[in-house]
Amino acid sequence: MNNYEIIGYPRLIRLNPNIPWKTRGNGALCLRVGKKGGTVKRKIGEINGNDVFCSPAFTQELDENEWHHVYGIVKDIVKTQAHTEDDNTNPGFVMLPTPPDNNMYKKAVIRIVPLDEVLTTLHTLHAMFEGYKNQRGLIGATAAVAWEPGDGTFEVIAYRSKERWGTKRSVDPASVKKIDATFPSTFDNYDYRNHHNRITPNSPCPILFGIRGDNVEELMAAVNVVQSEPVDSWLVFESNQGTDDHLQRRQVTQIKPFESVITEGCIDENPRTIQGGHVLFTLKDSTGTIPCAAYEPTKEFRTIIRALRIGDTVEVYGGVREQPLTVNLEKINIKHLTTVLIKAENPVCPMCGKHMKSRGTEQGYKCMICKTTSDEPIIKEQPRTITPGFSEVPVCARRHLSKPLKRIITPTTVIAAIGTEGTRR
Ligand code: ZN
Repeated sequence: MNNYEIIGYPRLIRLNPNIPWKTRGNGALCLRVGKKGGTVKRKIGEINGNDVFCSPAFTQELDENEWHHVYGIVKDIVKTQAHTEDDNTNPGFVMLPTPPDNNMYKKAVIRIVPLDEVLTTLHTLHAMFEGYKNQRGLIGATAAVAWEPGDGTFEVIAYRSKERWGTKRSVDPASVKKIDATFPSTFDNYDYRNHHNRITPNSPCPILFGIRGDNVEELMAAVNVVQSEPVDSWLVFESNQGTDDHLQRRQVTQIKPFESVITEGCIDENPRTIQGGHVLFTLKDSTGTIPCAAYEPTKEFRTIIRALRIGDTVEVYGGVREQPLTVNLEKINIKHLTTVLIKAENPVCPMCGKHMKSRGTEQGYKCMICKTTSDEPIIKEQPRTITPGFSEVPVCARRHLSKPLKRIITPTTVIAAIGTEGTRR
């Protein structure tokens, strides 16, 4: 690649997380490549002990020969590196002289884009491309090129030496907690409650760890703080992870399977815990009702969900499962807690001042001495155990695209809290 240089940061783009046939992370990489020539360089990684740089902007575009040369390089890499034996792996790569319209990315992150539509775009834009097996990889590849960094984040990815691929990774959790505490712009590093080191993947892939954050300098410094087996190479990526780009505001009846939504409504049926520890409630707005679920892997998030009651107003954030149509909660914003009234004691007789006796279910109360009757017990307000505000699933259950509250928080953001008994609104 001596004649070429990378323009800007390499990009790691996550697409619709609800697509049933996706690979695990539904991700794609995008590199912009230009002719070498720029004098301004920015370090973005190390490979084989050598510094890797990018140029902030194009100095010169590739000519036709170089274009075909780069195409050959990419094709060789896919041929030698892609695990096409896996049923869910359908790689594809595209080379485009100009990026597709940003709408192609927006569609691919929120819904299902037909392959035909992508192929039409590729032909229109004079792309060179190669799709393998069912060719669906072309969809993600094209969408990744169409991404325009808006509310973007970064991830520094450290790779393992080849002889270690498939073996157990050695990454010291204490050092992961240290980067979490030292570098405030990083996120989703460690789940303290569930003792889960999130920077290390579980799959047998070549990645040793990936640290996400908003500040490149902090990420590059963090790589050296992680105590681990030797880092073979590392590279910084610009990304749409942690942006909530997959979410769209919807009314209940507009909610479609395989999309991800933000919907506001009232709790219509109290939460209930079903077999497996999943918690479900029904949400209602002016157009209809839909079940919402906090599944078992969302751990302590379920405590907040279980404390919701009929009449509470909430805004739910989550992916939509098809069968049955359900919003799989990623976040919730509790906007208003209703007043829950409960029976405190039997009514007091106005004649003698003693408590009346119940006459049986739904049959009211009666004073046994004076024979006075009443239909209404003395009621009191039941203390709520949660407060209004945002709550999110724990780090161990977080999706790549979900924006952590850490990135949403402003001085006016309210975070929901679980109180002890007796917490008042
Ligand atoms: Zn009485």
